[in-house]
Amino acid sequence: MFKKTFLVLLAVSVVFLFSSGVMAETYVVGTSAGFPPFEYIEDGEIVGFDIDLMEAIAEAQGFEIEWTDISFDSLIPGLNAGTIDIVAAGMTITDERAQVVDFTDPYFSANQALLVREDSGMNVTVLFGDHNLAVQTGTTGDLWVEENLQDPGILTGRVTHFDTFVLAVQDLIAERVEGVVLDTPVARRYAADNPVEMVAELVTGEEYGLAVASGNTELLEKLNAGLQEVKDSSVMDELLEKHF
Ligand code: GLN
Repeated sequence: MFKKTFLVLLAVSVVFLFSSGVMAETYVVGTSAGFPPFEYIEDGEIVGFDIDLMEAIAEAQGFEIEWTDISFDSLIPGLNAGTIDIVAAGMTITDERAQVVDFTDPYFSANQALLVREDSGMNVTVLFGDHNLAVQTGTTGDLWVEENLQDPGILTGRVTHFDTFVLAVQDLIAERVEGVVLDTPVARRYAADNPVEMVAELVTGEEYGLAVASGNTELLEKLNAGLQEVKDSSVMDELLEKHF
């Protein structure tokens, strides 16, 4: 009898939890944690601006999130395969990507930059002739180097592709390449923490957006509404202040 009453109570409370929305939806958010200050590993944990931004949006919209850290070029395939629901990875909104995924409204502006070793005497001329560069695979920096330097034959040296910018910058410090092309805010952060410096800004006028699978309008609307709430409140300014 006691057991029966307990089971009935349990069933009722489960129904109540679902109907009252207490059991919030959980979305898997994909990122690539080698992109400080947007997403990086600190004391074994993924932290950064995008992490806090997503948490704030989730709180505003009443859903839960779970993080997954994979290589940058696996994020869009992950959305398409359904293993990831949202990408939060300082991802630039491009026409090419917008054909296969849907982007939210923009939340950050950036350009490309050139990093060289501090005190190497190197400058923007590293982008011309027989010099070796490193990039992160599938990024707008990777594409920029290919389209503007390699294809027209301006750069004739080697371009090494890495899964993360952490490895690309390590290669630069280890003197295996002479420059790394990456987003300006991230170049600045690497320069602040490593013996490298930013010697050129390449004006590409990029804007970052969160991404969902193409056609997932319900989730896109939640993200845009949450993003707007964050922008309208003091939270956005607090996050910018905290991370930049
Ligand atoms: N903003 C660049 C891009 O979208 C780089 C992003 C990243 O490396 N996380 O390609």
